[in-house]
Amino acid sequence: MSQFRIAIVGAGPAGYFAAQALQNSETEDRTFAIDMIERLPTPWGLVRSGVAPDHPKIKTVSKVFEKIATAPNFRLFANVELGSDISMSDLTSRYDAVIVATGSSLGRKLGIPGEELRGSLSAADFVPWYNGHPDFANLEVPLDCDTAVVIGAGNVAMDVARMLALDPHELDTTDTADHAIAALKNSSIRRVILCARRGAEHAAFTSPELRELPKLEHTNVLMSKTEVESAILRAGDEPEKDVKNNLGAMELITQMEPTSHERTLEFEFLLAPLEIHGTDRVEEIVLGVNRVEDGKIVATGQTRTIKCGLVISAIGYSAESIDGIPFSSGKVNNNEGRVPDSNVYVVGWAKRGPSGVIGTNKSDAAEVIKLLVEDLPAAPKENGDVSDLVNQHVVITQSDWEKINAAEVAAGEPLGKPRVKAVFREDLLKHAGYLS
Ligand SMILES: Cc1cc2nc3c(=O)[nH]c(=O)nc-3n(C[C@H](O)[C@H](O)[C@H](O)COP(=O)(O)OP(=O)(O)OC[C@H]3O[C@@H](n4cnc5c(N)ncnc54)[C@H](O)[C@@H]3O)c2cc1C
Repeated sequence: MSQFRIAIVGAGPAGYFAAQALQNSETEDRTFAIDMIERLPTPWGLVRSGVAPDHPKIKTVSKVFEKIATAPNFRLFANVELGSDISMSDLTSRYDAVIVATGSSLGRKLGIPGEELRGSLSAADFVPWYNGHPDFANLEVPLDCDTAVVIGAGNVAMDVARMLALDPHELDTTDTADHAIAALKNSSIRRVILCARRGAEHAAFTSPELRELPKLEHTNVLMSKTEVESAILRAGDEPEKDVKNNLGAMELITQMEPTSHERTLEFEFLLAPLEIHGTDRVEEIVLGVNRVEDGKIVATGQTRTIKCGLVISAIGYSAESIDGIPFSSGKVNNNEGRVPDSNVYVVGWAKRGPSGVIGTNKSDAAEVIKLLVEDLPAAPKENGDVSDLVNQHVVITQSDWEKINAAEVAAGEPLGKPRVKAVFREDLLKHAGYLS
């Protein structure tokens, strides 16, 4: 029987689904020893640091990850970063195959004047801030203004806008980071305007997220009836299913009776950001007014200025490059998941770019693992593993992580929360018993 050693870098959904596909590909003659390497002391990737805290059901996929992780052929090496603690050649020389599952964590820039002003942030920073990612705990989020503008037309933009617009007391029973709940309770923001460059028919929101907006208990959700009706006309008689569902959900929003809530979440379509103005911080954003002409977006030449103190862009992500891995256009260079001329494979957002829900990564990883299995050499390498490289390092193993997880869940229990996240690395290591 041959046992092949596989390293998976990145403990997000794609990494776990790759491990699961390997586990499912074992035969009597061929097994896998899987080492998963993760830069943070905590696994689960964006399920912990991306998915909105008021969507706890989505996070229950972590139970699947934990089942994969407790199989005897799986080891977690968390708090170990590829690129600084270990190198790509360390892995490719020791393992029969290396799977890169490092995601896509850098926010795409708007590329407009004023973007660097205080109060102009990327969702790629704001989201991990409210989700308790250690690297973003100290982010400055100026919430001392009345109006925030969110740029984007996907679910991330919607999460960001909703988190700013809901009554923060609604977050008390969620796993939102304590520092973010405190800051949001202090926030002066009462008006959140989500601006999309294209028409309502082009929006990349998904309809379940739109359908839950009318259920917000303390926020008026506003969408222009005229714009949604025009979008329905523009979409024609046979729109794609997703477009039809979205427009149906938007129509319901336009039919809602206005309430007297002081918080509003407004959707504006056909507005493209041009410039952010301000002296020491964001004071206003200038947007170009677009129209749809023969299905294309055309600038009208008119502009609209919105006074605001916070602008958050949510217009996509690109992958952070890592030495020894070929990247281009914000993704790892690959051919259906194979990284050319190497024993390296790539899955998830690092492979495809920032598209697809958690489940998309399962089918995607299964396809890549099929190729990996086809490419395996006749006999394993037997060149060791990563252990000797990290023996001077605090490695968070699966059992250490289980201690962190248990401590967080226990801290949440009396408060009616799923967990209280430890945010700083030292606190996470303390939960694991490494620091007193
Ligand atoms: C804000 C937001 C909200 C979302 N909400 C939903 C939702 O509600 N429902 C849904 O189905 N999908 C949602 N998604 C999409 C979903 O999160 C992605 O499909 C999925 O997380 C992609 O998985 P991944 O493993 O490729 O990347 P990630 O989840 O980003 O995981 C990558 C992992 O690699 C680690 N890593 C990175 N670099 C290194 C390195 N050098 N060394 C070691 N480790 C490294 C990271 O720390 C991370 O743990 C959301 C995405 C975002 C951004």
